[in-house]
This record gives sequence, structure tokens and C-alpha cells, in this order.
Amino acid sequence: MNQVLYRKYRPQGFNEFTAQSHIIQTLKNEIESGKIAHAYLFSGYRGTGKTTMARLFAKAINCQNRKGFEPCNECTSCLEITKGSAVDIIEIDAASNRGIDDIRSLRDSIRYKPNLLKYKVIILDEAHQLSKDAANALLKILEEPPEYVVFILATTEAHKMISTIASRCQRFDFYKLTIKEIVSKLEEIAKEENIKVEKEALEMIAASSEGSLRDAEGLLDQILNFTSSNEIKIEDVKEILGVVDLTLVFEFTDFLIEKNIPMAIKYLNENVERGINLEEFSKTITNYLRKLLILKINGGLIDEIAVGETGETKQKMVEQAEKLKGEDLKIILNLFLEAENKRKYSSIPQLPFELALIDYFYQSKK
Ligand SMILES: [Zn+2]
Repeated sequence: MNQVLYRKYRPQGFNEFTAQSHIIQTLKNEIESGKIAHAYLFSGYRGTGKTTMARLFAKAINCQNRKGFEPCNECTSCLEITKGSAVDIIEIDAASNRGIDDIRSLRDSIRYKPNLLKYKVIILDEAHQLSKDAANALLKILEEPPEYVVFILATTEAHKMISTIASRCQRFDFYKLTIKEIVSKLEEIAKEENIKVEKEALEMIAASSEGSLRDAEGLLDQILNFTSSNEIKIEDVKEILGVVDLTLVFEFTDFLIEKNIPMAIKYLNENVERGINLEEFSKTITNYLRKLLILKINGGLIDEIAVGETGETKQKMVEQAEKLKGEDLKIILNLFLEAENKRKYSSIPQLPFELALIDYFYQSKK
């Protein structure tokens, strides 16, 4: 994925961070009081700012003229770290350097005091991927780390870390970004880049990125390359994302409401013949039915659930949620989830969905 915007707009100060204020507050106190821990564990979903925060923290604790807790971004330490050329900042991707020898050579390299900076900072990305031997070797280092070393372990799967390592770290959980947070960052970028963009288009980008700012910025890049103009419309986003037309989803759901299974199957097959992407279709339908289920439980959530949609669409969703029984929604959702799993192994990709529809007919009649 293209990451030009992601790199260009990477925060260089804590004040530029879009989210994770709960983490920044604690780090701020530590930086200002000088009470730096020897090991940190940054855990959370991809693209939520773990590595960016790690580099920023490394910069702040090494800055030569720090004011408050923000790095100055002007001293030699700050400049070297921003450029990525500071020899005392060691970044290791544990996904590809996961063996015992990698940790041994790390151990050797932290025997010596930092060359230039105050702290040697080791940023270990995807730390849960270390082999068992490597993890044990790392544990040994963490038991008696040199004064001048700070470890920052980043992971998307903290539960896979061995507990003896996790318990030696100060742990921070990075939250997925909300649609609002992502939109606000994208708006900022669009303004800087002189891009005219519809708010609904940004909301759709944000929604499809599922809480990952990096994915959202990558998608914005991709759409800009696609349109090759300074204007982004919601149609452009739909085209790139391969969004299934909502009319199709509405019509299909109407058949489910009427329990008109022969028509639902016919409709499915007609669309497959027309070249509709079955994976995308299944994802869209499942996602849509899930929204109806949530609406059934709490109708007040319509604006959150249908973010970026027109009033007409919201109206239709509320109507369909009213017409479909909660029990039937549960049945069809379960059946579609199963069908989606079977699709990958079926020589006739639409067959699992046809069977799901027939099962729905029988099960929902009871
Ligand atoms: Zn500085």
C-alpha cells in the first residue's frame, strides 16, 4: 500500500497526535519528571500509532533543549532521530528477526553506552513474533538492563507475549481510532494538500479503515492516484473500495423479509453472472444485517451506524430493521457467516449462500 501521506504527516510532536491522549498524558508526566521506565509495552491494533509514539518518545527523552515534554525538533538529536539516522535508536522488526541470534546481537550492541544520545532506545516491532528462545534471551536482558537503555516493545497481539516479559514492562493499550478522529486527520491532510473533498467521502474512507489511521491515509493516497485530480467525490471512494450498490442490498434484504427464497436465490445468481464480487457482496450483506440487528436493539444509534449515508438510506434501514424479526436476523447472520467460511473451499462459490438461504427458510419458520 502506498504510504506517502502516512510518512509525510507522521506526527513530530505529541500535540500532533490525533488520538491516544490517555497514553500521552502518562508519558508526558514521565518525561517531565524524568522517571523513565526501562521497558514499555505498546499494544494495539495496526495503524494506531505505536511505532510513531515510540519514536516520538525516544526523541523527547533524548532532546537537548526540550521545553516541557515536547521535543524541540531542532537539536542534533531530534534531527537525527527524525531522519532515522540516529545510531542509538535501534529498530528491529521481530517478524523477520525473531531468532535467538538476533537477540544475542542486540545484547552485544547495548553493552556500550550511547554514542551521541542520552538513551539507547530499542524499538522492537511485532514483539510477540520472537521465538521462544529469543523471548527468553530478551527476558534475561530485561531483568538487568543497563541504565542508559530503554526498550519499547510494540505488538498487535499482546496476549501472545510471554507473561514474564509483559510483567516487566509498563503497558499501554492503543485504542482504534474513531471515525471522527480519522476524519479530522484526513481533513487536515486534505487542507494542507489543497484537495477538495466531500465530507461523506472522508467518512467512508474512515469507516472502511476500521480504526487504522495508516490504512485510512493509504487509502486516501490510492484514491488521489486514481482520480489524478485535486477533487475527491464519494463515487471515487466507492469505486476504489468496490462498494456494492446499496440498492442491491436493500432488494436482497426485502426478499429475506418476505422469506421469498426462490427470488433471493435467483437474484443472487443473476448478480453473480453479472460479475458481482461474491466476497464483497457477502461482506456487505453480513455487515448490513449486523447493522439492522444493532438498530433493533437500539434504534437511537442510526446516525452512528449509517455514518455518511443520506437521510433516505437511513429511513430505509430503519424500515427494514422494523420488518425483520430479531430472531430471524440472528438465524440468517449465523448462516451467512458459515456460508462465507465455506465459500473459499466451494467449487461453486455461490452454493454455500444458496444453502444458507434454504436453511433460513426452514429454520425461521419454526
Ligand atoms: Zn531536540
